[in-house]
Amino acid sequence: MKETEQICQINVDSYSCNGCESCVSLCPELFRINASSGKAEAVNDTAPCTEELHRAVATCPVECIETIG
Ligand code: SF4
Repeated sequence: MKETEQICQINVDSYSCNGCESCVSLCPELFRINASSGKAEAVNDTAPCTEELHRAVATCPVECIETIG
């Protein structure tokens, strides 16, 4: 099934993030660990709303990734 090209805004609550790197492992093109804080951040503020992105959101153990769109 073809995914729609809808664009999501990605917000990571860096206060709640525990730096587990699950999101980075699943979507290294969308998430990275900030070298100074050790917390995850979005590589870009927006990205296509893919299945992969939603899986990363669902996998976050502290539910600190929010997508809007
Ligand atoms: S999965 Fe959640 S807690 Fe783990 S690094 Fe990513 S944003 Fe942080």
